[in-house]
Amino acid sequence: VRDVVHSVHRLLTHADSVRRLRVLANADTADDAHRARARGAEGIGLCRTEHQFLGERRHYVEQVVLADSDDERQSALAGLLPLQRADFTALLEAMDGLPTTIRLLDPPLHEFLPDLTDLSVRVALAEERGRVDEHDVRLLAAVRRIHEQNPMLGLRGVRLGLTVPGLFALQVRAIAEATVELRRAGRVPLPQIMVPLVGSVREMQLVRAETEGVLAEVAQRSGVRLEIPIGCMIELPRAALTAQRIATQADFFSFGTNDLTQTTWGFSRDDVEGAFFSDYLENGVLTISPFETLDADGVGALVRIGVERGRSARPDLHCGVCGEHGGDPESIHFFHQAGLDDVSCSPFRVPIARLEAGRAAVLVGEDTTT
Ligand code: PEP
Ligand code: MG
Repeated sequence: VRDVVHSVHRLLTHADSVRRLRVLANADTADDAHRARARGAEGIGLCRTEHQFLGERRHYVEQVVLADSDDERQSALAGLLPLQRADFTALLEAMDGLPTTIRLLDPPLHEFLPDLTDLSVRVALAEERGRVDEHDVRLLAAVRRIHEQNPMLGLRGVRLGLTVPGLFALQVRAIAEATVELRRAGRVPLPQIMVPLVGSVREMQLVRAETEGVLAEVAQRSGVRLEIPIGCMIELPRAALTAQRIATQADFFSFGTNDLTQTTWGFSRDDVEGAFFSDYLENGVLTISPFETLDADGVGALVRIGVERGRSARPDLHCGVCGEHGGDPESIHFFHQAGLDDVSCSPFRVPIARLEAGRAAVLVGEDTTT
């Protein structure tokens, strides 16, 4: 066993010495971060902050998104600030000076808010029994107001951030304050702020202005300089196609190939386990799931276009990928060839990604993607 471990270690060290792609991890907590570093991750390419709201904190999303008044929303956001600051301090501390990309909230609302049908039934039953719960009645009205047939194509990511006043600003403040706290303790945290589901440069302009305002205010108050890059996900075809414009407002790009696959193929991510999709694979209509291995002709073409157009406006634009494909061997070869700078994947896939990034670098000219 010791010999095998030694050989694997040598192989990975060799791969590290030849690869050009940087290998990062998708990590949401300090525990994930430690796991990722133990496997050789050179940073965090994606922290999905919505995961910090699963479990006990779920009600915060409800309170902030469904608030009846500004006061109500502000007080929910104020309650969140210390929690988020602690999340980011722990994460940045665990990464100890390595780049840490924190994505602003992108909660699929149907996973966070009460289900409209369940809630309607609960309210109707309570009314029948003459036991009306005012809180539920108000909640039902709010859930009805924002209910969507296709939440994954609706009020998500930057759209939510621009619709709910103060939401992104709260997260940016928490990131900034965590950074200040660590700097004062003599550490060198390297956060990066990432905006999800951008489809137009205008969205990026608005979020950037708000973000820079908050950063400037925290910097001024604390006397600590804050130069935090602000970038975005490229996960909609329109974002890839208008990358030359978006790049004027983004310090880096990260391709979200999960959503990009969904929106390029028109296949719902939530239903890939379902009967129709399985039949398609079983019957050989599709020989491989595009959600697992990058479809070079469709999604891959958009990645190439996004990189090319983005760098036409900003030659030094840093480009990475953080969808599931970032940890898939065949896809990693594609990303190397497309000129990406890094791949980000689950901590457990980091060693595979290091190895494949090394192989991709030595298999120059050999097309492994067709
Ligand atoms: C993606 O869409 O590829 C991505 C990384 O974001 P998420 O999976 O969180 O939507
Ligand atoms: Mg996404």
